[in-house]
Amino acid sequence: MNKVRTRIAPSPTGDPHVGTAYIALFNRCFAHQHGGDFVLRIEDTDKQRSTDKSEQDILNSLKWLGLSWDEGPGCEGEFGPYRQSERSDIYASHIEQLLNRGSAFRCFCTAQRLHELRAQQMLDKTQPGYDGHCLGLAEEDIASRLAADEQHVIRMRIPEQGDCQFQDMLRGTVSISWSQVDMQVLIKSDGMPTYHFANVVDDHLMSISHVIRGEEWINSTPKHILLYQYFHWDAPVFCHMPLLRNPDKSKLSKRKNPTSIGYYQAMGYLPEALLNYLGMMGWTMPSGDEKFSLTEMTENFDISRVSLGGPIFDIEKLDWLNGKYIREDLSDQEFAERFARWAFDPVKTAQIVPLLKQRVERFSDVVSLGGFFISGDLGLAEANFAHKSIDASMAIRILQFSLWKLEQVPEFSRDNIEPELQSLAAQLQLKIRDFLFPLFIAISGRAVSTSVIESIAILGIDITRARLRSAIDVLGGISKKQQKSLEREFRDF
Ligand code: GLU
Repeated sequence: MNKVRTRIAPSPTGDPHVGTAYIALFNRCFAHQHGGDFVLRIEDTDKQRSTDKSEQDILNSLKWLGLSWDEGPGCEGEFGPYRQSERSDIYASHIEQLLNRGSAFRCFCTAQRLHELRAQQMLDKTQPGYDGHCLGLAEEDIASRLAADEQHVIRMRIPEQGDCQFQDMLRGTVSISWSQVDMQVLIKSDGMPTYHFANVVDDHLMSISHVIRGEEWINSTPKHILLYQYFHWDAPVFCHMPLLRNPDKSKLSKRKNPTSIGYYQAMGYLPEALLNYLGMMGWTMPSGDEKFSLTEMTENFDISRVSLGGPIFDIEKLDWLNGKYIREDLSDQEFAERFARWAFDPVKTAQIVPLLKQRVERFSDVVSLGGFFISGDLGLAEANFAHKSIDASMAIRILQFSLWKLEQVPEFSRDNIEPELQSLAAQLQLKIRDFLFPLFIAISGRAVSTSVIESIAILGIDITRARLRSAIDVLGGISKKQQKSLEREFRDF
């Protein structure tokens, strides 16, 4: 049997997600249990949405959790480069092969035509998708359009009839009708490959033997399998893992649960406990033990023990496990050292000290003034938000709109945040002082504190989001109906 090689292929388009770590963990255990390699590949073909910061955050979060990779950025191996943006030539030569074989075709349809097509399909209540308009273009027609530099994409051909069947390690035979599968764009009009194309080409060239990924990709698998066939390559083995869920069984989302690994780091969870908890998602040790290390998980790993019932990511259970680690695994000295390392992270401390220095008279003032930088829940009550001109409903609007604004700020810094909040205050026709009041309370727990904008920039979006959410809850929360009307109002700003 060929060497087992698995991979995790995150797109650097947002905060490092616990779901990425969960899938990475299972891929790593599977590869290492079989003496194989675990590869990290950055799928950054979406130029608009990919950022270096997100990539760096993902790499740092995986490292923090102890999920090291055998090959990938910073750990080059024989299959690099491991960043798709550095592999453009490879995709260009591969798409030529498919064009020459007639497995892919150029599509010159305008956005307008595709829009009208979709509208008609909606009206007719038929399966949405490309109708094959450019499938039969004559060679000369294509040549003259190319000579005129006409914008176009490259799509894959899809069989008109029948089903695609494939084996999934957890689900057995999966069958999907080709009529459900769209003629996927493989190369976008900017010349960049789409996820589907780059992913298949890279999995093959990187000798990936097992593709273990989230179940949201099942419906894409027929396209991938067809691409392997078009290239005359063997397809890897597929395994679609169940998605993590909120306690109410909906798909884990940051609206309901913090999903960013950065949040758990900033809240002072132990990485080994979080990793152990992720290992419990849909999987159990043969011994039934709930507390286990990465090494123990790898030694006892058996992918067939993954259960398909959606695993619930429950923070209360994680808290219990984290407490157990703190009590059972850390000596008093280790506790003190690790707490100090967490609380006095040098980068954060360097940002916080200048703010505190301006305001304290004695070191004993530091905790009451700046303790919120390392606190979890601030223990607020509605009375804390009492203000002469901002009532609870206005406070909720300020907090919710600020959160939405802050979520759009690409790089969290004072200079980027300040104008956003100022413009929001102007939209709401509030004096900046009054506008900032509920934010002060939500973020620092006090009406007077270090600059709230600086504090938000230092705390980062994960903790800021959690505090604004918790403040909104303290103030009575937002009903579904209110949420809709707030969204409408915000859109018009
Ligand atoms: N880039 C995809 C993602 O962001 C990878 C999916 C896959 O593993 O095939 O999840």
